[in-house]
Amino acid sequence: MGSIVIQNETTPDPISLIGREAGVCWGADVTNKEKNYKRGMDCLASGHGRTWEYPQVYMILDGYSARVIREFYTHIGGGPTRLQASTRYINYQKGFPFVTPPKIAANEEAEKIYRQTMEEILRGMQKLEAMELPREDIGMLLPLGMETKVVFRTNLRNLIDMSHQRMCTRAYWEYRGLMQDMCQALGSYSEEWKYLVEHYFVPKCEVTGFCTEAKCCGRKPKKES
Ligand SMILES: Cc1cc2nc3c(=O)[nH]c(=O)nc-3n(C[C@H](O)[C@H](O)[C@H](O)COP(=O)(O)OP(=O)(O)OC[C@H]3O[C@@H](n4cnc5c(N)ncnc54)[C@H](O)[C@@H]3O)c2cc1C
Repeated sequence: MGSIVIQNETTPDPISLIGREAGVCWGADVTNKEKNYKRGMDCLASGHGRTWEYPQVYMILDGYSARVIREFYTHIGGGPTRLQASTRYINYQKGFPFVTPPKIAANEEAEKIYRQTMEEILRGMQKLEAMELPREDIGMLLPLGMETKVVFRTNLRNLIDMSHQRMCTRAYWEYRGLMQDMCQALGSYSEEWKYLVEHYFVPKCEVTGFCTEAKCCGRKPKKES
């Protein structure tokens, strides 16, 4: 299972920061902590999305599949930046950790087939390495199920938007788990993050009040057309 570490560069007081930045433009007294917090809360409730881009988040995602990280990379709002563990320079010849989906793990025969396939890929890589072929070419065999590591920087707005898509019941199970881990990690980082996670990190049907997906899970009704 993957894990998320929130790095110290992350804004500790995102709501207050929003209030301070907005206050500058409103000619307000930005030395008053209570007023800054209240102004930040007003910006959130009013949906003034641009102000949500001030709080920065730095995190390390480790142990998730390359497949879920491929989906993670589609969230480009706010110009996030990230670096990922190299498949050119890391030596995977002794083995690569991989994610086993719960439904496969729960089925003994399926788990055996899955694990043996991974082992077969590894054997192929080792044979190619023995033939002294370039590691960057051998790495083409690595599967989407392999675990990877990403160091990531984004802002609050990007993560709220991501939560709407990826906390949807229709989203890929591993991404939903990743979002739960993210909520847990951010919620533990500070009280202001805890508030944001509890009130703003929700599936999109909680925002719209109805389901926008073609195949509805029943959590909210479909919109009457
Ligand atoms: C059930 C489900 C199934 C999915 N299936 C697939 C699939 O099969 N294949 C696939 O590739 N993806 C799939 N996705 C992912 C999804 O379609 C999006 O690619 C993903 O959510 C990231 O894009 P985004 O627009 O939501 O987020 P972001 O790119 O982070 O954008 C966030 C917001 O910023 C704004 N924005 C971003 N970029 C621009 C821009 N260039 N111009 C103007 N405004 C911008 C928009 O308002 C946007 O809503 C699926 C998601 C779900 C929940």
